[in-house]
Amino acid sequence: MSDFPTQLLINGQWLDGSGAKRLAIVNPATEETFAEVSSATADEIGQAAEAGQAAFESGWRDMPPGERTRLLRNLAKRIHENVETLAQLETRNVGKPIGDARWEADAGAKVFDYYAGAIGHLCGQTIPVARGGFDFTLRQPMGVIAAITPWNFPFLIACWKVAPALAAGNSVVLKPASLTPLTALMLGQLAQEAGLPDGVLQVVPGSGSEAGNALATHPLVRKIGFTGSTEVGATIMKLAADDIKRVSLELGGKSPNIVFADADWQRAAAESPMSVFANTGQDCCARSRMFIEQSVFDGFVDQFVAATESLKIGNPMDEATQVGPMVSAPQRELSESYIAGARDAGREIRTGGDRPNGGGFYLNPAVVTGVETEDRAWREEIFGPVVCLRPFTDETEMLREVNDTNFGLSGSVWSNDLSRALRVARQVESGVISINSHSSVHTEAPFGGFKRSGLGRDLGMSAMEACTEVKNIYVGE
Ligand code: NAD
Repeated sequence: MSDFPTQLLINGQWLDGSGAKRLAIVNPATEETFAEVSSATADEIGQAAEAGQAAFESGWRDMPPGERTRLLRNLAKRIHENVETLAQLETRNVGKPIGDARWEADAGAKVFDYYAGAIGHLCGQTIPVARGGFDFTLRQPMGVIAAITPWNFPFLIACWKVAPALAAGNSVVLKPASLTPLTALMLGQLAQEAGLPDGVLQVVPGSGSEAGNALATHPLVRKIGFTGSTEVGATIMKLAADDIKRVSLELGGKSPNIVFADADWQRAAAESPMSVFANTGQDCCARSRMFIEQSVFDGFVDQFVAATESLKIGNPMDEATQVGPMVSAPQRELSESYIAGARDAGREIRTGGDRPNGGGFYLNPAVVTGVETEDRAWREEIFGPVVCLRPFTDETEMLREVNDTNFGLSGSVWSNDLSRALRVARQVESGVISINSHSSVHTEAPFGGFKRSGLGRDLGMSAMEACTEVKNIYVGE
């Protein structure tokens, strides 16, 4: 018996899934399998959808807002009290540095706190209509919402999906990524301890092709909140089409980091490595395309490489570690294929790109220069510790290159000329952009992408509103 849940949570019961294939849970730092988790079949997904609908209809939907607030605050408190347990589990499962894992678990508690408080602020409108009478809108919950989440920030993204959906009065069936289901299961356990009624939050690990597909096509599921790759996001949208299910999609990215010579570029050079190598580059917001103004390019690259080489890479349980292993062997091989492609094309690997000695799925962060705009490493989301830097001279041409991508999630602009920084920020085609900062995510503000980076927004009131339907009611005179 492990001291963390490994079964399916369906209607308040912990059950062994009947899926023949259990999910092997591997520690990326040691390559050891340390747990096995039940895998849900399509039948079990159906049971969860029905239990979610029953929980929705039998009380959660109509619960007084103050009571729902109280329960979600309890859950925030239980998460907060278990930050260390959650962080240890996440680090073992994902390989992320323990300090980052603690921050993410605590951020998950804050997400529940925020949406607990937001419940009293989800309002309709009164509308003066031409006919006279009285017209107003209600924001009503939808029913069962499916949350399908990726492996890179398993706990935090689960909280982003689950908290606004529950706060708005929906029930949720959460399917975590098959590589990393442990903290999602623990979220289910903490929700039970916090007093959430059975069936309001259910957690069903399983494969994307069986459990994910069954969830995305179940007739009782009214909305799919998905975070993952652009390819699977497009599949989800197709699966949702027949029933006109609502979807919100947070997908891939290839975000720019733009540094002008008038910026504090030394600071940008010192801070930028972690804007792409944090979470070992497995971050949808990774600023993996860097545009550096020509006049400071050489000096910037030297300082960027030095800052990269000073990063502490190693055992993620070590408090000082900044970059841990990648999540899996295939994910590392994928990154290595981009590095090999760049090398074969004669691009310069200024540092990294090799494996350190010893076990674990480690890969030293790679800094690549001399790339052309048609290179795969420049155009595609690598989702690993690889960054490409190019110089620019002309702002208009640079912006054309910045926007010459199908992605549009995040990015940064570094300049001490405020009007230039704002002008460029407005023209970058992305859902999120930071000036003189690498921060993309704020619980209170909308987060999501333009173009193939997604549809809809996580976080802020936008996410909660997107878990409701608007009903217009007219009262005649
Ligand atoms: P993925 O698309 O492979 O999987 C995401 C989830 O979808 C998993 O739970 C998976 O089991 C499920 N899934 C797979 N096939 C499915 C199907 N046919 N039907 C239903 N569900 C299915 O993504 P990943 O590899 O776990 O995560 C990495 C990707 O996620 C990257 O592209 C990254 O940029 C993106 N991401 C985006 C954000 C964001 O907020 N924009 C955040 C984190 C990660």
